[in-house]
Amino acid sequence: MSRAVIALGANLGDRGSTLRAAARAIAAVPGVRPVASSREVESVALTVEGLDPSKPRYRNAVVVVDTDLAPQALLDALHRIEDEHGRTREVRWGDRTLDLDVVAIDDLRLDTATLTVPHPRAGERAFVLAPWVDADPEAVLPGVGRVADLLEAIGDDTERVDEPRLFEQHERGSAA
Ligand code: ATP
Ligand code: CA
Ligand code: CA
Repeated sequence: MSRAVIALGANLGDRGSTLRAAARAIAAVPGVRPVASSREVESVALTVEGLDPSKPRYRNAVVVVDTDLAPQALLDALHRIEDEHGRTREVRWGDRTLDLDVVAIDDLRLDTATLTVPHPRAGERAFVLAPWVDADPEAVLPGVGRVADLLEAIGDDTERVDEPRLFEQHERGSAA
């Protein structure tokens, strides 16, 4: 059994509904159990050119799950959920209905052609770190440090959305 941290993002369509549906779909994957979840944050789109205020803004969130799936099987399940929500892949960091990334799996360090864990850019992204701290205040980015400290170091440019956590049954602190 491993504990996995998954980042959710969307900047096309009904973003909040999509994130909620995606969280439900993740929790319904055989071999996955919900542990904790964040509220949503909103931020300016990040493209290969940098921050782009002319693009639709992003909603992001983080969920924490326990799973007996192997890392690649977990990523495959996330890709299927992206596909079910109309995810297309044309431009790197282009607009998308749904993006699901594996941020971390326990203290695992993994680097294959299709999966790098921890996610190599998670530590530079407030839209990952801020909801991660919200879901799990004591979270640590393996090999790097406390997520709360990393967020403070880079600065939090996200805005909290006034909506409930993604997993309705979530009890605060259960990720600890
Ligand atoms: P970024 O990875 O910078 O957040 P992105 O999410 O837009 O960019 P995608 O086009 O969604 O990138 O994914 C490209 C590929 O990244 C995927 O097909 C997947 O195989 C690979 N990948 C490697 N590590 C991970 C990870 N930890 N989580 C999700 N995908 C990963
Ligand atoms: Ca991503
Ligand atoms: Ca992705």
